[in-house]
Amino acid sequence: MLIDWQNFCYTKNDSINDRTYWKCVERDARKCRARASTMPDGKINSLSGEHNHLSDIVGLRVKAKERELQTKAIEDPRINPRAAFADLASSLKTPSEVARMSLSTNFVRRIHYGHKAASG
Ligand SMILES: [Zn+2]
Repeated sequence: MLIDWQNFCYTKNDSINDRTYWKCVERDARKCRARASTMPDGKINSLSGEHNHLSDIVGLRVKAKERELQTKAIEDPRINPRAAFADLASSLKTPSEVARMSLSTNFVRRIHYGHKAASG
């Protein structure tokens, strides 16, 4: 993950010679065409394209935490999905984090789907 000075986030796309190329994390969801490239030392070499959305680093952090807890709960069926959601709620501190949390029903449903997919 790459974060620029405006708090936009990028995922790795490609590496050519000594340059790493990144695409905006919202490329698929919002068809955002903004890109970045970095030098071998990790410094941003260039930014191109304009983001068609606002940066939401808090939202990304919340989603990452959700995925982490859901993955854990899917891998270990002894974990109660509602308890996993309670863990999420207690790990989020600020109102802006809480505002970006999934609804408990959606959070729990994703774990149930994961269990179904795992059991075939
Ligand atoms: Zn973007």
